[in-house]
Amino acid sequence: MPSQVDPQKCSGCGTCAEKCPEEAITMDLIPVVDLDKCTECGICVIICQYGARDIVEVMKYLARTVTD
Ligand code: SF4
Ligand code: SF4
Repeated sequence: MPSQVDPQKCSGCGTCAEKCPEEAITMDLIPVVDLDKCTECGICVIICQYGARDIVEVMKYLARTVTD
């Protein structure tokens, strides 16, 4: 879920792929996340300088995690 990328905002810089601790991101013009590897740590969302990753969805996810 933190893996959602807005292709209109993503510059394709690849920083999120470089910084992902699980090596879950590969670049195909925009990042593609291997959901089997992603631990939903949120680092890629925080690190994106272009705001291309959807922090709202992350917050919704965290809210669900807390309330479940
Ligand atoms: S860090 Fe942001 S702009 Fe760069 S590739 Fe990842 S999602 Fe796109
Ligand atoms: S949420 Fe964490 S593990 Fe998942 S793709 Fe982003 S940086 Fe990698």
